[in-house]
Amino acid sequence: MSAVPPLEPALRLAVTLLHSYWVLQDPADQLSVARLRAAAREVGLAEAAEPLTEADLPRLRELRDRLHGVFAAPDPAARVATLNEVLAEVSAGTAVEAGPDGTLRLAPLPRPGPVGPFAALVTGALARAAATGGAERFGVCAADGCDAPYLDRTRAGRQRYCCELCNNRAAAAAYRGRSRRG
Ligand SMILES: [Zn+2]
Repeated sequence: MSAVPPLEPALRLAVTLLHSYWVLQDPADQLSVARLRAAAREVGLAEAAEPLTEADLPRLRELRDRLHGVFAAPDPAARVATLNEVLAEVSAGTAVEAGPDGTLRLAPLPRPGPVGPFAALVTGALARAAATGGAERFGVCAADGCDAPYLDRTRAGRQRYCCELCNNRAAAAAYRGRSRRG
């Protein structure tokens, strides 16, 4: 199995953006500038969310939808293709930079505008995760009515649900199904 992608700060920020929408929470859409700023501060990337304002929320939601499309694409090749489309939209070229551990890596150069640097940062993190772990590790939750994206960081790489809650819901549903048949 492929390597487990490290949970680097920018990747944690990408997960925060993606998980700001979840059908099982109320309200389903909990995206806000305050939430992104808090998450960015927590992972040491405060400057990435600093320029964002309420006026950017529609574009941030659009980015979230586009990134969800990467996870929801039918197979690994389609996920890479979708990721490349988003990368091309959010970046104006690519640069080589030193990562947190000092190794060199590719980073998309952001397009101008307040959402630009943020979009390039989180999309670049997903691109590095795909390069490290493979697009097989991108998926959407298989539990009924969920569809939340997940990045499988288990060693075996056989994750199917977004979280423990959905895992348990699916197990309970399977149990009920077996009981009815039996
Ligand atoms: Zn789920």
